[in-house]
Amino acid sequence: MKFERYGIGIAKGMALTFKHLFRAPITVQYPEEKLAVSRRIRGNELVWFLDKCTGCATCAKACPQGNIEIVTHVGDENNYVVDKFEVDTGRCMFCGLCVEACPYDALAMGRSYERAQYRRGDVILNKEQLQMSDIRQPSGYARPKIEATLPRQNLLVYWDKKKGGQKLRWLSLSKKRGRGV
Ligand code: SF4
Ligand code: SF4
Repeated sequence: MKFERYGIGIAKGMALTFKHLFRAPITVQYPEEKLAVSRRIRGNELVWFLDKCTGCATCAKACPQGNIEIVTHVGDENNYVVDKFEVDTGRCMFCGLCVEACPYDALAMGRSYERAQYRRGDVILNKEQLQMSDIRQPSGYARPKIEATLPRQNLLVYWDKKKGGQKLRWLSLSKKRGRGV
C-alpha cells in the first residue's frame, strides 16, 4: 500500500480545479449559442420553391407516409397550377425521399431542428408556410448547388486521424455561433 503525505491529494485536486479556470469552455450555451450544423442536415422541416414547382406530384408519390397533399388545376398554358401544397410535418420522418424524387429541385430539406409545436394542427404546413424565408432556409441535402453556398459545419470534437481518437477543437466564441435559425 502506498501512503502519501497528508494534504497531497487536496493539493492535486485544487491544482486541477485551478487549471480549468484558465481553460477555454468546451461546451456551447445552447440555445443562446449554436454550432453551425452540417451543410446536408435533414432538419425537421421542408422548404418548397413555388417558382420551380410544376405540380407534377412526384414528391407526393415518393413519400412513404403519404404526408404531401397536392391539388392542382390546368392553367391557360396547359400547365398545372398548384392550388394546394400541404405537408403534415407531424407524421414526417424527414427521410428526404420526396426531395430526392423532385425532378425540378423545387423541394429541399430545411436546416432548422427546432420546429416543435404545442398544437397538432400547427405542424401541418401550407404552401405559404413552406416557402423560403429568413427563418426557413434550405439545406444542401441532395442539392449540391445549395450545399456549396452554405457555411462549413463546426464541431467541438473531431476525429484525429493521426492518433486515431477523438480530439477537442478550441473555437473562439464568435466561430461557435451558428446560424441560429
Ligand atoms: S421527408 Fe420523407 S416522410 Fe417527410 S414528406 Fe418527404 S418523403 Fe415524406
Ligand atoms: S415539389 Fe417537385 S416533385 Fe413535388 S410537385 Fe413540385 S415539382 Fe413535382
